[in-house]
Amino acid sequence: MSTKNESTECKLAIIGSGPAGCTAAIYAARAGLEPVLIEGLQPGGQLTITTEVENFPGFPEGIQGTELMERCLEQARRFGTRIIRSSVKAANLSERPRELTLDDGSSIKADAIIIATGARARLLGLPAEQRLMGRGVSACATCDGFFFRDVPVAVVGGGDSAIEEALFLTKFASKVMVIHRRDTLRASRIMRERAEKNQKIEMVWNSVVLDIIGEESTGVEGVRLENVKTGEINDLPCNGVFMAIGHEPSTDVFKRQLALTEKGYVKLAEPGTTYTSVPGVFAAGDAADARYRQAITAAGTGCAAALDAERYLEES
Ligand code: NAP
Repeated sequence: MSTKNESTECKLAIIGSGPAGCTAAIYAARAGLEPVLIEGLQPGGQLTITTEVENFPGFPEGIQGTELMERCLEQARRFGTRIIRSSVKAANLSERPRELTLDDGSSIKADAIIIATGARARLLGLPAEQRLMGRGVSACATCDGFFFRDVPVAVVGGGDSAIEEALFLTKFASKVMVIHRRDTLRASRIMRERAEKNQKIEMVWNSVVLDIIGEESTGVEGVRLENVKTGEINDLPCNGVFMAIGHEPSTDVFKRQLALTEKGYVKLAEPGTTYTSVPGVFAAGDAADARYRQAITAAGTGCAAALDAERYLEES
């Protein structure tokens, strides 16, 4: 564990420990770059708050997200990656070596950097959401579903995440209402079919959440909905609300350091590469991907970033 004011020097620092960061670390370590990987606030990334991963090649029976990520980190460690349990609170990418300041005050100086910081759950932005977070409001069914035994809950969203969360919650809740702002799901066909077949899932179409009802002392008691077609407002009783309305990239720390897109994703300097606007700084995974956002695509770009970083270090 590093201590305050301690500085570590390395050829390559990788920020993030999801599929992108881990794959970058495996490739970079095997290439002898002795990378330092900074785990971040959620070691293993978003897969550690999902349940079974069924679409990662090589696991025909599926694998739990946490197990997959533990294995990836172990593989990175095996080839000599140094893993640091901290997160980056500031970055200076303007000159070489680039400097990263960690939460504990220590710093890392690296000739090249791979940004693999991923994305985090988006929230609706309602004041009640913050007030009742952890008191019935959640963005992770896997983490919190257990607390909602035999009570009705709501899931907000219409994508794969919303359906995945809803299906998981049916193991505990008496009823799961999926609140979606349109009348067709964005979720893939296989997920839609699973939702249709599940008797505990009820769809609430064309509806947006205006407010979450409940006090800190009582927890969530319901949601106030507006039907966007009729303008009708009504309260839906439930004891849990799970937000599944997509994700936003975790790139705040790089805001004034390199080019980001309007939505905050790292802007790639050349399509088909992992180059950012700063030479020697590369980006992989969800932090730079608003389109695919899959574990396997993150792993793929993690590999590409390691190869790009290796070439950069050889040539400069
Ligand atoms: P997503 O596909 O972007 O879906 C977000 C959903 O939230 C959409 O239905 C959207 O409505 C709704 N939404 C967004 N902002 C909203 C707001 N302010 N108020 C109300 N509703 C709002 O995100 P995701 O479901 O997290 O999935 C992200 C990616 O991961 C996708 O590529 C998905 O396929 C993948 N994924 C795959 C699996 C799996 O295969 N098992 C599981 C989870 C995620 P609209 O439809 O009206 O835009």
